[in-house]
Amino acid sequence: MTHMFVPGPVDVAPEVLAAQAKPMLPHRSKDFEAIFRSTEERAKKLFYTEYRVFQAASSGSGMQEAGIRNFVQKDVLSCVNGAFAQRWNDVAVANGKNADKIEVEFGEAITPDMLRDALKKKHYEAVTIVHNETSTGVENPLADLCKVVQEVSPDTLILVDAVSSLGGVKIEMDKLGVDFLLTSSQKCLALPPGLALAAASDRAMKKAESVENRGWYFDLLLMEKHRIKDSTPMTPVMPLIFALDLQLDCILAEGLDARFARHQAMSKKVQDWAIAHGMEPLAKPEYRSKTVVTVKNELKWDISALNKFLQARGMRIANGYGKIKDLTYRVATMGETSMADIDALLEAMEDFMKQA
Ligand SMILES: *Cc1c(COP(=O)(O)O)cnc(C)c1O
Repeated sequence: MTHMFVPGPVDVAPEVLAAQAKPMLPHRSKDFEAIFRSTEERAKKLFYTEYRVFQAASSGSGMQEAGIRNFVQKDVLSCVNGAFAQRWNDVAVANGKNADKIEVEFGEAITPDMLRDALKKKHYEAVTIVHNETSTGVENPLADLCKVVQEVSPDTLILVDAVSSLGGVKIEMDKLGVDFLLTSSQKCLALPPGLALAAASDRAMKKAESVENRGWYFDLLLMEKHRIKDSTPMTPVMPLIFALDLQLDCILAEGLDARFARHQAMSKKVQDWAIAHGMEPLAKPEYRSKTVVTVKNELKWDISALNKFLQARGMRIANGYGKIKDLTYRVATMGETSMADIDALLEAMEDFMKQA
């Protein structure tokens, strides 16, 4: 089996993959509704929320769109420090919203001061933040950013994309005061792609009542009507719910704190290795992601040659992404990857260096 050190889709445990092959059920049946309720109940633990978790058939980007369409009538502030944060801004613009940007160089984090200045200049209904920028390997200081919003503009909703961190890093939604927190299945949750999960606060759901043109497929008020009956307005992505059902048990059996510590230790190992070999992580030490390491390709490695070398040993890493594609490479440390996997990868990379 190849091991993919790429930030999604990640490797899926064989038994979780196999869970998808269970026979289908009528979705409006007590049997399926019981599974759907139970996946939501356990998912809430990953989100650290008492509110609600929607389970939708889409990738994570669909929930970026849902956040914009449900919680913003007109004015939204996009915090942009990488390709996925830019995508959320594109989504807002494509939906006809006035989306102002705070923008920093790829590799930098959004700071509380920048956010404070922007919120003092203009009132926004919502602010969008990518917790873990998968292109640059930067984790934004989410707790400090939330505090600034609460201080300067308490009625502004806080929308957070945690596609490449939720389930790998602790994000305490309710404690932080996050209003909408979204992720997708194929990254830290180590499931196949195609399922998005998002939690929404009560005040966000209240705000949605006043927002026009929420659309239909991602109308969270419509989804809520069905959710409270353990169901969905449309056909749910049943095979992925079956896989989620098993994977949540596996995640909770590992223990959330143990899972988070494993991710942090693996990313630290990769960062230290890169530095010891003359290559700096792109992010500053205080903002380094715990689930993906974006390394400056200072030795000018041919990444496709490296990947060919690795693939002969059943491994694969990721190119850079977006406008820093050719300047960086990325090693994901998420999902079911173990420290032994990381050790094997770093050993193979050493061998590549020797023969290069
Ligand atoms: C992968 C990723 C996305 C896009 O998610 P899809 O599931 O591919 O739509 C959005 N945001 C971040 C931070 C990501 O890593």
